[in-house]
Amino acid sequence: MMMVPARRWIDLHLHSMASDGRYAPCKVMEMAAARGLSAVSLTDHDATAGLAEAEDAATQLGMEFVPGIEMEAEYGRHRLHILGYFIDATNAGLVDALAKMVVNRHARNEEIIARLRCMGVVIDYRAICKRHAGAAIGRPHIADELIRQRAVSSFQQAFSRYLGNEAPAYVPRVAPTGAEVIRIIREAGGVASLAHPGRIKTSSHLELATMVRDLRDGGLSAIEISHPDHNDATAKLAAELAARFELLTTGGSDFHTLGTAVTRGTGFAKRRVPYEWLERLRGERPVNPLRPT
Ligand code: AMP
Ligand code: MN
Ligand code: MN
Ligand code: MN
Repeated sequence: MMMVPARRWIDLHLHSMASDGRYAPCKVMEMAAARGLSAVSLTDHDATAGLAEAEDAATQLGMEFVPGIEMEAEYGRHRLHILGYFIDATNAGLVDALAKMVVNRHARNEEIIARLRCMGVVIDYRAICKRHAGAAIGRPHIADELIRQRAVSSFQQAFSRYLGNEAPAYVPRVAPTGAEVIRIIREAGGVASLAHPGRIKTSSHLELATMVRDLRDGGLSAIEISHPDHNDATAKLAAELAARFELLTTGGSDFHTLGTAVTRGTGFAKRRVPYEWLERLRGERPVNPLRPT
């Protein structure tokens, strides 16, 4: 009897304490291993601080590890998230871009806190920075502080009342353009994938398709299809865009934490992501004669 090899599954979208995830990178890797995953990527928002710890843990646990990142980008009136895989976290261009983002985030957080103060909610930014030392601090951390101070009763309420994109204390972040983010990722040896396209509020399919084509022309290699925010229709639309523009596909759980409103899906991907997607992605790594692999 022929033995059919067991299929292998992966998760290419995970957050840790290095950005707004709840758990330390090694703990996230333990949870991924407990799910029986063969390969994982840690993709913290605008941060690479968790990669070394995650890589060590993943390797110990027998999982393949892909150093990743999720970067925010501006595209016309839209805000995009672009995932980068196989990045070299020591690349000077990437390090420089992330350092600028830390400065921008800091200024933006102060502005959010000033707005909250105008609304009668006084919170201590230094306490937040101290509690989350080393993390890329943003709205989730401010939401957490609002809960601690009992200014709101839940994470969702913090966003609906104060911090959400349509709420009064919202301040947009200064972000590089989509083309710039893709260039930064590629120059750091990485492969870029458009995160959760189903979340982009375009006015038509044509607008989304035009955006995807433009990003592809700028060096985008893939589209995230499997994501907890995608229903069957949006996953199908994303897959069609990938096929039409000859882009590869990625997917993951966008895991942040267990058991609170931040949890997307059940924590790890509802729609399973096959290992073959990672193999194809690996083949897309830009050739850089200056950097031996
Ligand atoms: P920031 O990078 O500071 O703008 O924070 C963005 C993060 O906040 C996202 O990655 C989510 O984790 C979280 N977030 C944004 N909007 C909401 C919302 N409406 N409800 C819950 N979490 C949100
Ligand atoms: Mn997040
Ligand atoms: Mn995202
Ligand atoms: Mn994410």
